[in-house]
Amino acid sequence: MTDTILIGGGVVGLSLAWELALRNIRVTLLDKSAIGRAASWAGAGLIPPPHRAPNLTDPTCLLRARSAELYPEWSARLLEATGIDNGFRVSGGIDVALEPAEEPALASMTGRWRKQGIRYEVVDDLRAAELEPALTRRFARCYFLPERAQIRNPWHLRALEAACLALGVDLRPNCQVHEFLISGDRVTGVSTASGSIHASQVVVTAGAWSEKLFETLNIAVPTRPIKGQMLLLDPGRVVLRRIVEHGKCYLVPRDEGLVLAGATEEWTGFDETLTGDAREMLWNEAISLVPSLADSKVIGHWCGFRPGSKDSRPYLGPVPGLEGLFVATGHQRAGLSLSPGTAESMADLLTGKPPRVALDGYAIDRPLAQRRDETVRS
Ligand SMILES: Cc1cc2nc3c(=O)[nH]c(=O)nc-3n(C[C@H](O)[C@H](O)[C@H](O)COP(=O)(O)OP(=O)(O)OC[C@H]3O[C@@H](n4cnc5c(N)ncnc54)[C@H](O)[C@@H]3O)c2cc1C
Repeated sequence: MTDTILIGGGVVGLSLAWELALRNIRVTLLDKSAIGRAASWAGAGLIPPPHRAPNLTDPTCLLRARSAELYPEWSARLLEATGIDNGFRVSGGIDVALEPAEEPALASMTGRWRKQGIRYEVVDDLRAAELEPALTRRFARCYFLPERAQIRNPWHLRALEAACLALGVDLRPNCQVHEFLISGDRVTGVSTASGSIHASQVVVTAGAWSEKLFETLNIAVPTRPIKGQMLLLDPGRVVLRRIVEHGKCYLVPRDEGLVLAGATEEWTGFDETLTGDAREMLWNEAISLVPSLADSKVIGHWCGFRPGSKDSRPYLGPVPGLEGLFVATGHQRAGLSLSPGTAESMADLLTGKPPRVALDGYAIDRPLAQRRDETVRS
């Protein structure tokens, strides 16, 4: 017997499953393929810095701030519960504009950082050399964000999976949900290839595939896939210690010296082709930011499908008109970073408490949010 079914075992489903299990809710989590191998595995694991401003109001900002606050605590609790290090590191980040034409867009970020209480420092050539000796000196503008962080998302997913299993969550990989079971105006469970499963609450956490599930109910929840390709570089030594961001591209150094170079943003449906153009663009970007990476080997190239949204915000909350049905998806470029806050507030909602972050601004039938509050560029 289960209380709550979650459809989709990415970072959003697993985080919510863990949070619910900690509150003694019996959870069954179903995934059409392996657990934790879709967008959440493919991502870079950039975590934005904490927001220290007291009066935040923008919904995305609130969720981001709460998630940034929760990450250190979650990481420590996951380590204690499972023995698995999720790779949470406050490595700090450097944001650069390489060309003068890129300066205004980057400089405008400082207004947002100030308003949101995010620590940053303006960096000149000398300071750049001190912070990150391998960074190109040919930049037009540069900032240092000392509290920007990262996780190793494959490790984080493994830790969440182990923590869920330890609390008795029923994890079922290779169990695709085809339809919802409905009685009157209530959802009472789901139908899968291996039979029906009943529960009083069903939550759609199916990432970019969520839209297809909602189509079976004639409910519009656009989650158009946003394909992201990424390279993994092995420079053979540690050349970089901090995350470097340039527009929508970034380099993420891992402890042992490997460097992730991401990421493309493509609107080509669920096409998994890895393209030469993307490889070339990401490689050129990497060596323009850190020239010594030219000696690296490319040891990985993959893609994932970020779940789109009708605007810049995820969909979180109840599905109007159908008792017992909920959604948590559409996190676009920020599902890893927003997952702890998402899980906490969704678990509040599902257990009848006022959500820690109010979810009204995330309703599926909300008016379109202005796109000004881009989440993280990842
Ligand atoms: C290249 C790239 C880089 C990124 N970098 C970052 C980053 O640095 N920081 C950040 O915060 N975010 C990043 N993201 C975004 C982040 O990865 C996503 O927002 C997040 O992973 C979405 O998580 P999810 O659990 O909603 O979806 P997913 O991880 O895609 O999980 C959805 C799951 O649902 C399952 N499913 C689908 N349909 C069904 C069904 N009918 N029945 C059962 N199961 C089903 C799928 O098999 C899948 O396992 C990046 C994404 C990409 C692609």
